[in-house]
Amino acid sequence: MKFGGTSVGTAAAIGRTVEILAEGRASGDAQVAVVSAMGGVTNMLLAEATSAAGGDREAAERLCEGLRERHFAAIAELVGPGEPGERTRVAIDELCQRCGRLLESVYVLRDLSTRSSDLIVSFGERMSSLVVAAALEARGVAAVNVDSDRVIVTDDSFGAANPMLDETRVQAEAVLRPLLESGTLPVVTGFFGASRSGATTTLGRSGSDYSASIIGNALRADEIVIWTDVDGVMTADPRLVPDARTLPSISFSEATELAYFGAKVIHARTMQPAAALSIPIWIKNTFNKVHPGTRIGPDAVKNGAVKGITAISNVSVVTVEGSGFLGVASVTGRVFGAIGRAGINVYMISQASSQHSLSFLVPNADGPHAVQLLEQELELELHRQTILSVSLNPDLAAIAVVGAGMRGTPGVAGNVFQTLGNNHINIVAIAQGSSELNISCVISMSDLERAVPSLHEAFHLGK
Ligand code: ADP
Ligand code: ASP
Ligand code: MG
Repeated sequence: MKFGGTSVGTAAAIGRTVEILAEGRASGDAQVAVVSAMGGVTNMLLAEATSAAGGDREAAERLCEGLRERHFAAIAELVGPGEPGERTRVAIDELCQRCGRLLESVYVLRDLSTRSSDLIVSFGERMSSLVVAAALEARGVAAVNVDSDRVIVTDDSFGAANPMLDETRVQAEAVLRPLLESGTLPVVTGFFGASRSGATTTLGRSGSDYSASIIGNALRADEIVIWTDVDGVMTADPRLVPDARTLPSISFSEATELAYFGAKVIHARTMQPAAALSIPIWIKNTFNKVHPGTRIGPDAVKNGAVKGITAISNVSVVTVEGSGFLGVASVTGRVFGAIGRAGINVYMISQASSQHSLSFLVPNADGPHAVQLLEQELELELHRQTILSVSLNPDLAAIAVVGAGMRGTPGVAGNVFQTLGNNHINIVAIAQGSSELNISCVISMSDLERAVPSLHEAFHLGK
């Protein structure tokens, strides 16, 4: 069972989390809890580490105070004076000091590498897991916090590490299984693991969902439950579409597609380790636990062609244009080689059939860098004018219409483009996955708030 930032964000929320774990335990199930940092703490760690690297001398002290305040307040309310509160306060205090010293080094060096950043941000989960374990103990449930760098083994791609499932299984059997067998509930930190050489690595922002399914896979769990602050995976982001509905069940691939195209409710890689062993994932609401939630499983339930509408905000289209593509396979390869080596994430690709232009979608923040890289890579072609230009079109959004049922259902694309057209929304680029799981298109950021609700309505997805 994984509990997200909101579910462990305040003493009241942790109270609900503890309640859910205590109930599960009473039913006799062996459970592992995986917890995120208290809501906002990861952002605070990143912001202060960045300030320290920029020469802010006060950042370390400010961070220590902020972390202490947040966690001590929760402990005071949940655990009170005496044990296990005292022990937990001492442990949190030690972590605050360690984290503060790391920030002092960052300040002195004026350098924040992804390796240092991964270690620093891991402190949020290290602290929240201590608080949750103490709250469970205070409620009479035997529990112990476990740092996931003892469990999840990854490669050393800092910032977006890849788990090694076989090695992780060995660690999980050694560290977690004995706790389960002795009736102690392990409260594992989400978000990070460690490389073979022992360096802390994170799985990427929002990676605690992924941690839970990696551990579920490693222990061959019967099910994985992601507890969050909405009733499940919905037909659209409820912040954009007030009448969005909770989907009772979707397939692993539909969930991956929705997540990849912006449904923040679950991290896009979460489905992989679960799907590998056909372990169902449930998305449920910590604050409305009677709701059945969404079941993500191997089987696609066919109810309508389209399941949901999602969007990725603040993206840019990079376009490379010129006859240099004609019959020259290597140009495309070089374009994506250069982008890939720089670690820039490409969301979507579209190529005109004349092979005259190639467009792809990147985060706004990476747009100028991508253009610069391609101008270097294609310098000769630009000089010879076989490539005419590398251009950038910023402040766009990608919307995706997702559903396994659209495979072989005619008219979905027609409905999408007609709806956007009727609303006077201009389409910058279009792509359809060959799996026919989604149709996506790029529009202006300023049209996003109209586009998603109108598509939601056009496919009758509302309540
Ligand atoms: P947690 O901290 O529990 O991991 P997140 O904030 O990462 O929670 O994800 C839950 C949020 O995802 C919801 O509060 C909701 O605003 C947002 N969200 C975006 N798209 C969707 C969607 N299609 N279905 C449900 N929630 C969504
Ligand atoms: N705390 C991490 C983050 O904010 C991981 C997570 O919450 O899933 O990205
Ligand atoms: Mg999340």
